[in-house]
Amino acid sequence: MTIFYKFEGKLYINITNGCPCDCVFCIRKNGDSIEDNDSLWLEHEPSFEEICAAFDNFDKTGMTEAVFCGYGEPTVRVDMLLKTAEYIKANSGLQIRLNTNGLVRLIHKDFDVEKFKGLIDSVSISLNAPNEERYNEVTRPNKELCKGEGGAFGEMLRFAEDMKKICKTAFTVVDVITPEEIEECRKLSERMGIPLRVRSYVTDNESYT
Ligand code: SF4
Repeated sequence: MTIFYKFEGKLYINITNGCPCDCVFCIRKNGDSIEDNDSLWLEHEPSFEEICAAFDNFDKTGMTEAVFCGYGEPTVRVDMLLKTAEYIKANSGLQIRLNTNGLVRLIHKDFDVEKFKGLIDSVSISLNAPNEERYNEVTRPNKELCKGEGGAFGEMLRFAEDMKKICKTAFTVVDVITPEEIEECRKLSERMGIPLRVRSYVTDNESYT
């Protein structure tokens, strides 16, 4: 079972295959792993003990960053994510990044993002589209998540605003949207004071968060 794997010199962390979205670009549709790593489909959601043992046994030589990424949305298991981040901080000098769809407060209604403070050093949030309509077409969030003010898109933007106060925050889009839409995303990112990274479809490891 692959809980940790190496990609481009970073330690990637896979604690869940769960996700309330169905992004059109999700790499999970095209295979079961990244590069020559074993399958990222988990036999079961790993326990804290399994995660700690896998972390301890992984050769982390030369690595400086650990990334919660998944073959799923890591905040689906946000309590386990926090415990794991705490363990990594206590047992290594690794910086921690979270790759997320930014919907943790829709997945876990009372979640307080302040809990990430001191544990998550940077966050990369899937902006995916310049407006709610296109966001819903590209991200295809579970309908339950789309209720409320601004739906999932509005909440993802609020999450980004809040995370900006806590740690280094960036947006990503995958180039499955048009160049004009990418430009609109760039303008939106600029207005919010959050850098935007444009990723290539399929070839990019992070096309599944
Ligand atoms: S890309 Fe990420 S948020 Fe989208 S369906 Fe895949 S795992 Fe879920």
